[in-house]
Amino acid sequence: MNLEKNLQKLYTKLKNDLSGDISTSIPALALQDPDLFAISAATVDGQIINIGDTSEELTIQSISKAFTYGLALEQNGNDFIEAKVGMEPTGEDFDSVIKLDDQNRPFNPMVNSGAIVVTGMINALKEKSREEEIIKYLSAFAGRELTIDNQTYESEKKNGHKNWAIAHLLRHFKILSKDFSEDLDLYFRQCSLKLNCTDLALMGATLANKGINPKTKEKCIERNNLRNVLSVLFTCGMYNYSGEWVFDIGLPAKSGISGGVLMVIPGLMSIAVYSPRLDKRGNSVRGIKVCEEISEIYKLHMLDYAGPSNVSEIL
Ligand code: GLN
Repeated sequence: MNLEKNLQKLYTKLKNDLSGDISTSIPALALQDPDLFAISAATVDGQIINIGDTSEELTIQSISKAFTYGLALEQNGNDFIEAKVGMEPTGEDFDSVIKLDDQNRPFNPMVNSGAIVVTGMINALKEKSREEEIIKYLSAFAGRELTIDNQTYESEKKNGHKNWAIAHLLRHFKILSKDFSEDLDLYFRQCSLKLNCTDLALMGATLANKGINPKTKEKCIERNNLRNVLSVLFTCGMYNYSGEWVFDIGLPAKSGISGGVLMVIPGLMSIAVYSPRLDKRGNSVRGIKVCEEISEIYKLHMLDYAGPSNVSEIL
């Protein structure tokens, strides 16, 4: 069913779609070239299709939340996390200040409040700092060593006033401890990890492949934890567009404000798109369109799946 050809067609069709605007929430993001466009697909047996600007680097931003949540689950177990962070969609902006549920928890790990709390749960182990643990964990999904973009980190730290406000309120409600600025700092650093579209696709393919990186064969996440991550991506991964996303596309996904979208088709592959122009909810305009069409062409909606049963049927 010629995936490469279909992706190429979509790329050509959407290349001239210049709707939406890049994020100017922090100065570093405003420096992006708005018209970059990359699509990568990675299958569970490690085959990769790259189209467009796939070696251009972006910062991972909110897509990191999916993986840090995975690491927090691996380190602490679900009960510990669920006591502090819920799993309901908010229907509000990802950075809204601040809504807690009836148990005094941020609504879910994919909105900023929940993500900052989850990052705060990451422990330093053995010889590694908390930051090194996060970098090592996300790098295992990508299959190569990722590094932090310092300019973006500094920009987040200096200008991320809403996140500071959220962190202060989390401290006020005693959800974060007195060292909360360290947790926030770590969150800024995880959002500033840089990678390219191919890396993102491999990270998604690891999620699609029962948690095993298709290239390095490293097992990155336990089965139950993977299920939890994918469930939260299904219901909360696309900010306050998550309901409509599930309705139309029906697959777990995560987007980030730099213009990345990562969609996971469990057992088959992942699709990653990088296109910095965003819609009003902060999702990549072309990213959503690519995912929508791929889900439609291959009948991938998980609640009405009539798609390929193995990789050889999509290539
Ligand atoms: N670093 C960004 C923030 O915390 C990430 C948000 C996003 O990608 N939606 O605001």
